[in-house]
Amino acid sequence: MMIDLQHVALTYQSPDGEVEALRDISFQMEEGEFLSIVGPSGCGKSTLLSLIAGLERPTAGKILVDGEAVRAPTPKVGFMPQQDQLFPWQTIWANVTLAPAIRHENTPETQDRVRELLARYGLTDFAGKLPGQLSGGMRQRCALIRTLATDPKILLLDESFSALDYQTRLSVSADICRIIRQERKTALLVTHDISEAISMSDRVVVLSRRPAEIRAIHDLAPLQGLGPMERRDSEAFRGFFNLIWKELELDE
Ligand code: ADP
Ligand code: MG
Repeated sequence: MMIDLQHVALTYQSPDGEVEALRDISFQMEEGEFLSIVGPSGCGKSTLLSLIAGLERPTAGKILVDGEAVRAPTPKVGFMPQQDQLFPWQTIWANVTLAPAIRHENTPETQDRVRELLARYGLTDFAGKLPGQLSGGMRQRCALIRTLATDPKILLLDESFSALDYQTRLSVSADICRIIRQERKTALLVTHDISEAISMSDRVVVLSRRPAEIRAIHDLAPLQGLGPMERRDSEAFRGFFNLIWKELELDE
């Protein structure tokens, strides 16, 4: 088991009182699996990723990553935030090798891996450019390469594509889906976009309004083997969409 959440709860203590964000969340992920989490805005999705990343501690329950209890951030887990967060004054090369540099892992092997990723995703000629000289889609690919540079086994994607316009989002998410499969990563994507979740993942977890509880878990087996675009054209896609839409609507 790559990720194992058992009865996880988190209540924030803030100056205005307690905020119950997550209540009794349990699910498991196998190695190589792609799971999406959908839920209303503010329900606790980012909180859930922070817990798995080791940035927050649960109030109750257990979180295991690759068989070990999570205590602090580990290099096993790569986190890709909503904004690409590239430093505008640094070159693409400096940006994508930043994480290994901070961890003192900027070894020749790491540099080779980054060079190969840049080549594979058509960015070699842009290594010396600044982020402002690239399109939104290219920057998002750079952000992914930066996340992959340290070779994490698990990728956490927090609404990573929502800042992009619709067309770019479609092509970047198809791209990223392929990259994740090629690199054989275990991936957990948080999104409020039902179509994005169904087009990319193996299973979809539907959360309720805050405090987030699991409302349903859908196995997308009927869509297995289809790319994101083919999925969007299929009958089964519409079936899942309507189902999840209704589950979310109950709260709105
Ligand atoms: P989502 O990502 O689903 O939009 P979040 O996980 O960011 O939701 O937030 C869930 C709830 O927890 C929100 O009501 C938010 O205001 C609250 N929250 C998030 N972080 C903190 C924090 N550090 N302290 C107090 N409350 C927080
Ligand atoms: Mg969020």
